[in-house]
Amino acid sequence: MSAIGPRIPSQWQGLTVYLPTLHGKGPALSEVLTPAMGITRVEEVAVDTDRLGTFCGAVDRPNGPLFALDAKIQAAKALLPGGRVFMASEGSFRPHPTVPLQMINIEWLRWADLETGFECTVQSTTTLMQNHERRVERMDQLDAALAPYRLPEHAVMVGLPGAAGVMVKGLTTREQIAEAVSRILAEHPAAELRSELRAHLNPTRMRHIQRAAMRLANRLRTACPSCATAGFGEPLPRPGLPCAACGFPTSVSSGKAWQCTSCKHVKHNKVSGKADPAFCPMCNR
Ligand SMILES: [Zn+2]
Ligand SMILES: [Zn+2]
Repeated sequence: MSAIGPRIPSQWQGLTVYLPTLHGKGPALSEVLTPAMGITRVEEVAVDTDRLGTFCGAVDRPNGPLFALDAKIQAAKALLPGGRVFMASEGSFRPHPTVPLQMINIEWLRWADLETGFECTVQSTTTLMQNHERRVERMDQLDAALAPYRLPEHAVMVGLPGAAGVMVKGLTTREQIAEAVSRILAEHPAAELRSELRAHLNPTRMRHIQRAAMRLANRLRTACPSCATAGFGEPLPRPGLPCAACGFPTSVSSGKAWQCTSCKHVKHNKVSGKADPAFCPMCNR
């Protein structure tokens, strides 16, 4: 990302950052954030984050990802009342908002300094993921069904088609999977294979979380051009480029915009000119 504000040194050098997780994200985040932020390490705090919601549908996330980030940080703080800097990670796999049949993986990371009240949250979206569902009705279909799963680095869950919360989790060998599938097929017409989405069992997702951490470090080391607070660069939606015929905002981007989390200063890299009326909702009613 090009610099959108002055580069500044890390304000958290020499500190340990606490991360509530049971899913082995600490070393992956340390790898990125220790050199980038000058911290000693990202230390895992054993908070059962699954109780705040899981990917296999056993527990729904209440109130969305930003609420979950906050709940995780509060839970870690309760265990470590003396801690100063906490971070939390949250991910989602969902259909693309506009492209049919395309799934996306969104990762959020929050950095919270409880001494100063500073908070910064970043989001990263990708279509690169290991997230498959395959149905098996006979054991001789198993090998073909397993082809896309990239075992044993990525793990698989086995359960009943469409049924949430009854999965056998964390399977990484063909033998384990075959045993779980044959147990289900003994009593049911079909079994379903699903990718494990928990980060320690899905290295493709873990790499995406590391990419989000690079984005976070970039934000934390960028100052607001107006008030000099760290964390400048919160993406801000802007109305589209005005229509050449009627002036109404179109679906064409008017340029990226970023905001300060503290003083609300906005930097807008405006695109000049007018948009083709073909992209105008008013001219195409
Ligand atoms: Zn128009
Ligand atoms: Zn500012």
